Amino acid sequence: MSECIFCRIVAGELPSHAVYEDDELLVFNDIHPVAPIHWLIIPKAHVESLAHCGPEHEALLGRMLLLGARLAREHGLTDGFRTAIHTGRAGGQVVFHLHVHIVGGNESKTPIG
Ligand code: AMP
Ligand code: ZN
Repeated sequence: MSECIFCRIVAGELPSHAVYEDDELLVFNDIHPVAPIHWLIIPKAHVESLAHCGPEHEALLGRMLLLGARLAREHGLTDGFRTAIHTGRAGGQVVFHLHVHIVGGNESKTPIG
């Protein structure tokens, strides 16, 4: 069994509220939302962080960002939304499986994570 909590969510071993899923990506609600909408977009395959990505992840990273914009539009975030990627301990990363935060539904800048 994986020790990575997001790999365990992908495997269905831990619960999550999924917003979107395809072969490559999973989007689910952050367990500690800082706004009415707070999603995490993750690749299903384990990648530790943005700093661990290489040229082979270029398309994946593009898909993650475009999916965030598309889901935000589809959920009515027409005034905008925040996008955050924490990388490494000094970058505030707590879960070491690459994820993009999508935060919207209010105008506050509550720190994420
Ligand atoms: P960070 O690594 O700083 O981007 O923070 C990890 C984020 O994952 C935090 O916003 C947590 O609230 C969120 N998180 C941690 N465990 C879970 C979980 N089991 N389900 C959903 N979100 C989680
Ligand atoms: Zn993982």
